[in-house]
Amino acid sequence: MSDDNRLVFVGATDLAGLLRGKSFPASERTSRMRKGVGWTPTNVQINCFNTIAETPFGALGDLALVPDPEARLTLAAEGEAPALDVMLGDILYLDGQPWEFCTRSHLKRALSTLRGKAELEVFGAFEHEFMLRDAVPVPGDSYSFRGFRSAQAWAEPLIAALRHAGIAPDTFMKEYGARQYEVTCGPTMGVAVADQAALLRMLVQDITGRFGHQSSFAPILDPSDVGNGVHIHLSLRDTDGHPVTHDADDPHGLSEPARYFIGGILAHLDQILALLAPSEISYLRLTPHRWSAAFNNLGFRDREAAVRICPVSNLDPAKVAAQYNFEVRACDAAASPHLALAALIFAGAAGVRDRIGPPGVTEDDLSLWPEDRLHAAGMIRLPQSLSEALEAFEASDAVRGWFGADFVKVYADHKRSELKVLEGLDTAEKCARYGEVY
Ligand code: GLU
Ligand code: MG
Repeated sequence: MSDDNRLVFVGATDLAGLLRGKSFPASERTSRMRKGVGWTPTNVQINCFNTIAETPFGALGDLALVPDPEARLTLAAEGEAPALDVMLGDILYLDGQPWEFCTRSHLKRALSTLRGKAELEVFGAFEHEFMLRDAVPVPGDSYSFRGFRSAQAWAEPLIAALRHAGIAPDTFMKEYGARQYEVTCGPTMGVAVADQAALLRMLVQDITGRFGHQSSFAPILDPSDVGNGVHIHLSLRDTDGHPVTHDADDPHGLSEPARYFIGGILAHLDQILALLAPSEISYLRLTPHRWSAAFNNLGFRDREAAVRICPVSNLDPAKVAAQYNFEVRACDAAASPHLALAALIFAGAAGVRDRIGPPGVTEDDLSLWPEDRLHAAGMIRLPQSLSEALEAFEASDAVRGWFGADFVKVYADHKRSELKVLEGLDTAEKCARYGEVY
């Protein structure tokens, strides 16, 4: 097909955590790079089930979704599938100012807050689990060769597409759960950490779809099986790009800025959880013994911790320092990766500024601890429903300071409209509804 007619999709992740946008002919790329495509403010209130929440904008207003040349993915046509040309962009006012509901602009602001307050940059990667909704569960295939082999036909094109998009493939596996897979990628800097997560989700769905499968990143597909987590691996760099997360003298290897950054995340985790785990069924996953996160705890290599200090496999101190990272496990793919990362960075920056130490490192089953023991140790049980998480989100002065009061109200209205769609459904039906969307 001629370049004149090929379409370029430009999109942004929205409050529903979905990639939405518009397309334009590739022949118009030069002018579209400048002026973007028109965008409507009320689109922000289209929830994941396609109903529209209460909107302060009504039918009014105009914005521009402007592609970023740094966030681009192209794939050649393959069999029946047309070529893919996707760009991520920022939603701006027509005078070029960032719109207060643009997820990517929030992330950019969070990164500049961290740079301004602490002279730190973020280096990281999202780790994703997903399931093939159409596949028949195969007993005994967790991590198995058979499980790998049956996925290889679509997994290799996926790896090739990731690499082509500048996303460094790391591992691919048949995960533990029935029909479940995991793909991990190498770390990158700043906004690209979230951009790559958005592109990876899109690629997994696109490529498995070409092979006749329906993949889903929904937090839980079957309430009796494991969940699909998103683990956000993070480390800190100074403004010259040197790693500053590791300190060999700390019992758990964490540098002072990393400890405070994590302290800030954990101190605010209940208040930002509505951005990290933003679906009703996210809270089925965030329960003890699901290897997710139920408390605002810091764990050393503990997979039930909200923040886990990850292992590194090297004895060379310089390489250990470069690899040292921690992962936030209280997140899922119903979240916009841009909003989730923005929230973590705002909270982390506040931790560094206010020198908020994290609670002591835990190695226990915290579900067995009575509440007074938890509180004495500086920990809480995280909100247990989206409604509860939204209450903590709306009550937080910190969150309002980071994202703005208007954003908080619009986000809460958006999420409550999503909850309304689910009223009267049982748990399995709710999982099925989310399974179709994510
Ligand atoms: N499936 C688990 C989750 O929901 C994570 C399992 C793992 O540690 O890989 O987060
Ligand atoms: Mg996993």
